[in-house]
Amino acid sequence: MNQYETVLHHIFNDFKTFENSGKKATYIPELAHVDENLFGVSLTCLNGTQISLGDAHQPFSIQSISKVFSLVLAYNILGEDLWKRVDVEPSGDTFNSLILLELELGIPRNPFINAGAIVLADILISHLQNPKEDFLKFIHQLTNDHSIQYDLKVFNSEKSVAYRNYSLINLMKSFGNIHNDIDTVMDFYFRMCSVNITCEQLSKAVLFFANDGVHPISKEQILTPKGNRRINAIMQLCGFYDEAGEFAYRVGLPGKSGVGGGIMAIHPGLYSVVVFSPKLNKKGNSTKGMAFLERLTSELNNSIF
Ligand code: GLN
Repeated sequence: MNQYETVLHHIFNDFKTFENSGKKATYIPELAHVDENLFGVSLTCLNGTQISLGDAHQPFSIQSISKVFSLVLAYNILGEDLWKRVDVEPSGDTFNSLILLELELGIPRNPFINAGAIVLADILISHLQNPKEDFLKFIHQLTNDHSIQYDLKVFNSEKSVAYRNYSLINLMKSFGNIHNDIDTVMDFYFRMCSVNITCEQLSKAVLFFANDGVHPISKEQILTPKGNRRINAIMQLCGFYDEAGEFAYRVGLPGKSGVGGGIMAIHPGLYSVVVFSPKLNKKGNSTKGMAFLERLTSELNNSIF
């Protein structure tokens, strides 16, 4: 057993009795059907060694964690010009808030709030030949696993109640920051959020963020080292919406959460880790996931700080 394995097993056992005050996301009706007791963890070291516990093989809805992948694709297309369409400041606001968008003339605070990710979807539609296929292909490339798919039930469910996301895109369109047809952009945005993925697959997919942008297993350069540093910085400052400060304080790793209950985090130069537990706190982040990662970096006695 390596150091990570011993620590993970020990924390995982302790967390079996974790008192969870969180609640599943139900605003997307399909997510209300998920078993709220699922709990999985997967940590991947740079040499490819993977330690997986509990429900690490159980697919879950990636939701906003998809935003890190759309950001990589958009950044690789536009480079620094991307920041003309979306900023890199923490929003200090809920993930689907409209308030700042009106005040800041349709430029979202960062790519990880919904408004920002909708702009990313718009950019990818303008530049990719087949956005839906290309996005999935990117995930397949990163995981070397072609079984990963969109979940059409989740997609349709989210689309049927997406009044707020439609408000965001309409507001941005009125400011000229959406270039394509609104329904086409939203369709693609909901698709990306609907990807079904396991802790093991996701931990593999984000490992390049811990390795200067190079996938340590396939050796492919996914991002330049500079781009990688920048995206890690955005994850650190904006990956948990109005709880980004709390995550930096308690866990101390760049990461990204989703309302499906997943959290991914990376330790540059060491590992990537994914935790899945569907009950969320009031800010929309997995309660148990955050507590687990706090315990992990505390027991390993290293965060990026
Ligand atoms: N698809 C979700 C939405 O747009 C994603 C939100 C999230 O995971 N924070 O509301």
